[in-house]
Amino acid sequence: MRVNLTAVLKKAQLQRIAIGAFNTPNLESIQAVIQAAEKLNQPVIIMHAQIHEKIAPLEMIGPAMINMADAAKVDVCVHLDHGEDRGYLLRAMKMGFTSVMYDGSKLPYEENVANTCEIVRAAHSLGVSVEAELGRVLRPEGGGKPDPDEAALTPAECYTDPHTAMAFVAATNVDALAIAFGTAHGIYEAKPCLDFNRIAEIHKLVTVPLVMHGGSGMEDDDFKKAIAAGISKINYFTYMSLAGGKAVINFLNTHPQQIVRFDELAEIGRMAMRLDVERAIRVFTEE
Ligand SMILES: [Zn+2]
Repeated sequence: MRVNLTAVLKKAQLQRIAIGAFNTPNLESIQAVIQAAEKLNQPVIIMHAQIHEKIAPLEMIGPAMINMADAAKVDVCVHLDHGEDRGYLLRAMKMGFTSVMYDGSKLPYEENVANTCEIVRAAHSLGVSVEAELGRVLRPEGGGKPDPDEAALTPAECYTDPHTAMAFVAATNVDALAIAFGTAHGIYEAKPCLDFNRIAEIHKLVTVPLVMHGGSGMEDDDFKKAIAAGISKINYFTYMSLAGGKAVINFLNTHPQQIVRFDELAEIGRMAMRLDVERAIRVFTEE
C-alpha cells in the first residue's frame, strides 16, 4: 500500500528502528526492494533521485514505482530524492509521489528556509511529506567527485548545527530532516569519522524524524549507533547496486563460453540486490 513518509517514520520513531530508503532507477531495483520488504514484513521507502533522470526519466519510472507500491503487501512510501527545483518536485507530487526531498543544502540558510517553506505549503495541501537537508553530506548523490567548493569545506563547516536545525524545523514545518554528521554519498575510500553525539544533540532539540544520507557502506555497528542516537530513515543505494553488479560479474566469470541473454543478467542482478536490501533492512530494524 502506498503511504506517505510521515506514516512510515512514525512507526520507526515509536519502535526506535530506521526505515530503509533505496533508490530504484530501474524495474529490477523496484522489484528487489519491495520483495525484500515484503519478505521481512517491514515498511520501506523507494526513491527516484533527480540525478538519475538520465537513466530513468520521472515520467517513465514514476508510474512504475507508484503502481508497484500500490500493489505491495507492506507500506511503501514513494519518495523523490534530492529534488533541487520546484517544478520538478511539483511534477512528482501531482503524479502520486507521497514524499519529496527538497535539497537546498548548498544555498545560503535564508534561501534554503524560504524555498523549503514554499515546497512544504504545496506538498502539505496534497498530503505529501517533505524532507529537507541542513548541513552538507559530501559528494553528490550517486557518488563521484565532490565539486571544488565542497572539497574546500572542513568537516566542522559541513556538519549540521543542532540549534540551527531546531530553528530550521520551526521555520519550515518540514516532516523530516536530513542531517550531516560525517557520512558521504557513494563508495567510502576511508572509514568515515561519524559524530554520533551530534545526532543525539539534534534529536533532543528536534521532534521530526532525522535522516541519514550516504548510509551504504557503513559498518552494521555504526548503523545501530546512529539509530540509537535518533536516526529514523537511512538512505542506502550504492552498495545494493554494487551487489547486483558483483553477482553479474561472478556469473559471467563462471560461464565464459555461454551466450548470455540480457534478461537473465537482469534477473541475477535483481536477486543479488534483493538479498542485499534484506540484509540492510534487518540491520535497520532488528533490536
Ligand atoms: Zn542523499
